[in-house]
Amino acid sequence: MKKVKINSEKCKGCLLCISVCPNNCLKVSDKINKSGHKYVELINEEKCKFCSFCFIMCPDVAIEIVEE
Ligand code: SF4
Ligand code: SF4
Repeated sequence: MKKVKINSEKCKGCLLCISVCPNNCLKVSDKINKSGHKYVELINEEKCKFCSFCFIMCPDVAIEIVEE
């Protein structure tokens, strides 16, 4: 089964992934990572169509689409 995985320590909170997700599956967390950035979390996971837009857009390679 495919799954979107976000590495919260790599994320710098640029929000580019949120802007390209067509299904509102991503949001900014209230929590802060070790670098001081509010990182992105997956929400509405059931709405994700694995389009890869978020993965392609992320400049910090913080998002992966994995098979579990
Ligand atoms: S794979 Fe597509 S639908 Fe899923 S979170 Fe990323 S941009 Fe949104
Ligand atoms: S595009 Fe990457 S670095 Fe930017 S908010 Fe999304 S996961 Fe974080």
